[in-house]
Amino acid sequence: MKRDLKNSLSVTLLRIVLLAALAVGGVLSCAQIVFDAYKTRHSVEVDAERILDMFRDPSTQAVYSLDREMGMQVIEGLFQDTAMRHASIGHPNETTLAEKSRPLDDSPSRWLTDLIMGKERTFTTALVSREPFSEYYGDLSITLDTATYGQAFLLNALILFISGVMRALLMGLVLYLVYHWLLTRPLSHIIENLASINPDRPGERVLPHIKGHERNELGIWVNTANQLLASIERNTRLRHEAESSLLRMAEYDFLTGLPNRQQLQTLLGKILVDAGRSQRRVAVLCVGLDDFKSINEQYGYQAGDQLLQALTDRMRVHNASLGALARLGGDQFALVPAHIEHPYEAAELAQSILDDLENPFFLNPQSIRLRATIGITLFPEDGDTSEQLLQRAEQTMTLAKNSSRGRYQFYIASVDREMRRIRELEKDLGEALLRDQLYLVYQPQIRYSDHRVVGVEALLRWKHPVLGMIAPDVFIPLAEKNASIIAIGEWVLDRACHQLREWHVQGFGELRMAVNLSTVQLHHAGLPRMVNTLLQRYHLPAHSLELEVTETSLMEDINIAAEHLLSLRHCGALIAIDDFGTGYSSLNYLKTLPLDKIKIDKSFVQDLNDADDDATIVRTIIQLGHNLGMQVIAEGVETLEQETYVIREGCHEGQGYLYSKPLNASEMSLYLKQAQHRNPVIV
Ligand code: C2E
Ligand code: CA
Ligand code: CA
Repeated sequence: MKRDLKNSLSVTLLRIVLLAALAVGGVLSCAQIVFDAYKTRHSVEVDAERILDMFRDPSTQAVYSLDREMGMQVIEGLFQDTAMRHASIGHPNETTLAEKSRPLDDSPSRWLTDLIMGKERTFTTALVSREPFSEYYGDLSITLDTATYGQAFLLNALILFISGVMRALLMGLVLYLVYHWLLTRPLSHIIENLASINPDRPGERVLPHIKGHERNELGIWVNTANQLLASIERNTRLRHEAESSLLRMAEYDFLTGLPNRQQLQTLLGKILVDAGRSQRRVAVLCVGLDDFKSINEQYGYQAGDQLLQALTDRMRVHNASLGALARLGGDQFALVPAHIEHPYEAAELAQSILDDLENPFFLNPQSIRLRATIGITLFPEDGDTSEQLLQRAEQTMTLAKNSSRGRYQFYIASVDREMRRIRELEKDLGEALLRDQLYLVYQPQIRYSDHRVVGVEALLRWKHPVLGMIAPDVFIPLAEKNASIIAIGEWVLDRACHQLREWHVQGFGELRMAVNLSTVQLHHAGLPRMVNTLLQRYHLPAHSLELEVTETSLMEDINIAAEHLLSLRHCGALIAIDDFGTGYSSLNYLKTLPLDKIKIDKSFVQDLNDADDDATIVRTIIQLGHNLGMQVIAEGVETLEQETYVIREGCHEGQGYLYSKPLNASEMSLYLKQAQHRNPVIV
């Protein structure tokens, strides 16, 4: 980490130490300079004293003998001293015997030294004869110029001052290095290590000791900080553990480990958002155990708890297909299937749970049988929030318990009835083939170029012994779901081929049979072989069998679909695409797949007259067929106007109530004969 040098501890210390050293150095230097000034002043006096001593005797002699020349010699001698400014020998009351002066030295620093020592200093000594007479002859007076002394003093003072400051600076620098080495650097190290600690996992790393500082205050600091970090980590972990166990307690049921009601609402909320986005259905199943209270009373609460756990394990078996499984409370559970397309699937799940409960639970030494009632709500029909759906499912369950137990019930009565009916139907459908309740009807297909019957479509019918005719749109999806469509489909193909053979024998030699294939059949590996066998068994020429597949069945996996269609074509069958326009209608798959014919869905043909859009769609589909070199047949042609339109747009064939409703085999034979009669050159 880069820190601001200006604010670093060593620089701050350096600054303080330097200022302090400078101040102390300055004060000490000044004191020394003042002392020096005093000493210099004193040295002037000492020098003067020494000079006077030296020249006292010759001066006395000169003044005693009034020898002027000698006096001048003495004066000259005195002027050997460069500081000498003025010297005189003589009696105060007489004219001076000898004197000399010279001007003041004009050194530039004199303004300063004059201030400290004065311009000049005059000293006088009396000239007296030797003891014991001690007769006074006159005075020797000298005046010294202070400038020379001042210059020396100044030089000294300067050196003193500079050396004082330098000393202070040097001291400061040494101190800075010492501080930096002993304090700032280790502190920076510690800070760097501290900064690299993950605040969320403070105990993950320990701060390393600084070399050489293991035992001093820094070492103690590092140890204490490490202890602190470890205890923070420990406390954080404990807090997290406490929090997550609190969370679990708040979201999960203690006994079974399943999500509780609150958590289920969150889960369900998410499932609903997803389902809303992808426009899917969701079912909520509320499972309430019947008479669980009396089981508790009879076998004890411990057994009750064990039962609930065992029941949870059983329901978990369905987990793969479940979006959520939760315990709502005492004896109530909720299940949300991950993905359902039809309410019917919810009914199946409910029934499988009820069927499961038929097997008793073994709790040593008893075996106990549980019964439950299930309330079912559907999204979006019965509510659009998780609370609503749950609440209504519970309501439905409670209400259902009042009437009869051990069953499921949908929230909406009509749905409930419908589901029951469908389940019944599914059961009955399983036996329909064996009981001979299925048969085929046929609807003619007309070629527009000459208005002849060139083909028939085989359509399956189921006559239920109690409910009467059941529409294929209702029972075929049921057969697809439990795979009974394979057997039924085989039967349809066999009957259709058999019937076609008969018509060929009766003289309608080029009649074609169209048979609907369900998605499940198309993806069944045995189909091409079966088609082949049938064509051979009934001596049917190639191209007399046409298989109708839907767009959706092809789109599931286009590569596999292409493979299957190709092998069907190898057998000699034609392939028509049924309900064209209602699915994805991707141009791409039309080009890739081996298709012979497009069947325009009846919804477009029927709305031809009142919707411009549908007219455009029909025209476009016909053109598409032309461009791809495919035959186009219009389905559901009911009126002459519709026929006129599709013929005008270039449609090759037509099928619909305008020509005939689906007829049973004998009616169809009659129809074919009449058509032949109307149009003698018919096939
Ligand atoms: P689809 O293949 O589209 O069959 C055409 C349906 O339109 C038939 O209904 C037919 O009766 C009806 N239809 C024919 N002409 C007209 C008309 O002019 N106007 C109107 N409104 N409807 C007309 P159906 O027989 O009820 O069949 C319904 C669907 O059941 C069929 O639709 C087909 O998808 C399926 N289906 C029927 N038989 C079989 C079968 O043997 N196997 C398979 N997998 N599906 C079948
Ligand atoms: Ca069809
Ligand atoms: Ca159709």
